[in-house]
Amino acid sequence: SDFATPLLPTPFPATAAPYWVAGSEAVATRLGWTLEQLQTPAAIAYLSGNPTPWDPPHEQRDNLAACDWPRATVYSGHQFGVWAGQLGDGRALCLGERRLQLPGHPPHSYEIQLKGAGKTPYSRGGDGRAVLRSSIREFLCAEAMAGLGIPTVRALSLIGGDFPVFRETTETAAVVARVAPSFIRFGHFEHYAARHQHRELEQLADFVISRHFPHLMSLDPGYPRYQAWLEQIIDDAAQLVAQWQSVGFCHGVLNTDNMSILGLTLDYGPFGFLDQFAWGHICNHSDTQGRYAYAAQPDIFYWNLYALGQALLPLFSTQQPQHAAQTQVQSILDTFPVRYRQAMQQRWWAKFGFLSATQALATAVKTDPQATERDRFIQRTLNDMESASSDFTLFFRTLSRLPAPHAPLALEQCVTLLAPYWANLTQLRAWLADYQHLRQASGQDWATQQTAMLRCNPKYILRNHLAELAIQAAHNRDFSEIARLLSVLRHPYDEQPEYAAYASAPPAWAQTLAVSCSS
Ligand code: AMP
Ligand code: MG
Ligand code: MG
Repeated sequence: SDFATPLLPTPFPATAAPYWVAGSEAVATRLGWTLEQLQTPAAIAYLSGNPTPWDPPHEQRDNLAACDWPRATVYSGHQFGVWAGQLGDGRALCLGERRLQLPGHPPHSYEIQLKGAGKTPYSRGGDGRAVLRSSIREFLCAEAMAGLGIPTVRALSLIGGDFPVFRETTETAAVVARVAPSFIRFGHFEHYAARHQHRELEQLADFVISRHFPHLMSLDPGYPRYQAWLEQIIDDAAQLVAQWQSVGFCHGVLNTDNMSILGLTLDYGPFGFLDQFAWGHICNHSDTQGRYAYAAQPDIFYWNLYALGQALLPLFSTQQPQHAAQTQVQSILDTFPVRYRQAMQQRWWAKFGFLSATQALATAVKTDPQATERDRFIQRTLNDMESASSDFTLFFRTLSRLPAPHAPLALEQCVTLLAPYWANLTQLRAWLADYQHLRQASGQDWATQQTAMLRCNPKYILRNHLAELAIQAAHNRDFSEIARLLSVLRHPYDEQPEYAAYASAPPAWAQTLAVSCSS
């Protein structure tokens, strides 16, 4: 009872029959279901928040854990750098957990959570609902991130309901079923620390470690185990934010309550992918100070890790004096900048083709004689891109397809391909010479580099205008665009020539799109 409140979801009003908007085949399969099974009226009702249990097909009953009980959990957090106190699952509800042992797979378990299925004791005056517009964005982006290979909460289904939900304007409702091994956030730990509930804090930490970090259970209980755990959280966080930066993903609301303890991307709201490259890009219209701007995200992770470290401090203080615990936690936290820098360096190198991704991960970065030259070159390139307002995704995809320098006419072809991303051609030619030199100096042949680059420089990302078109169509009950986007974005590194239009830079009208916290 200290962690969650048992609670049934609130079904849609009787006048609004729930309807199927979209589903992820990949997630359904992972849960041992097919999309057809989820599209029966009983399943749709269940996934919209109708508490009548949906009876899964007989042959699969053994795979279903006794679905404990639906529940909303309580957490707190820092929002925009300010302590906000209790937040909690104000509109998300865990239906239960599905444990699976599928042939050929290790056993695994997933929580299934409905977002937008009614008020909870933690709704703080909110209506417990989510709107179709933001639910489409959440559904698509979760699956797009998975396609990009970035750790994320997944989306199983999206169910609509035609009843009014009041935001800046009147909108219609939707429920997303989200799936993750756990939805526990930094804010869950902050909650018990702030209330001096150290027993619960420890209980929660031990639960998370035994469940989700089982390899740490061989370490001595107490701070040796907590230390290794915190190190892993920091490393996962460094890897995650480096992956975000490498595809130009901006989260938009990096509050501590939106930080997954498992290093997953969580809570898709006013997120955005970079179109034109700009260090200071702010995707969330409500973020007037730019706290969560693109270039600020790694520092914000660091800040959020400090909030977590502060919350976990009591766990480190039971076997040693407080000041020793503090020094210890701080020294672990302060490994973040180096971990991030290394993770980011590997991502940039891979994007530029200076190394294949696997090789980059194995390379001792510090000992690479070209490291400094490469890193300077990367900074210079990114700054040039900013000055020329280059499209981030298109630039790197183009880079991945340049002809090898020894091919006939290669130089002129390269200049033609890259010209749209450069302010002036003299500058481009000089840059190109340096670039070819650095790529050749890395020792890999051009074609091998190219193959690796095409696996880390996506062709397709969920640009705001693409989501917007799918949203507009959905408001006219046409969900085909959502399905199409889902299928394109599940394979963002593949050419998919029939969908080439989805890889274009945004049209002019997209400049007026503003995405805010309202969801
Ligand atoms: P966010 O900034 O979107 O992560 O939201 C912060 C917290 O506010 C969430 O954890 C929810 O508990 C709560 N919340 C947001 N929107 C609503 C809503 N419409 N109804 C109830 N709670 C909400
Ligand atoms: Mg949130
Ligand atoms: Mg939100």
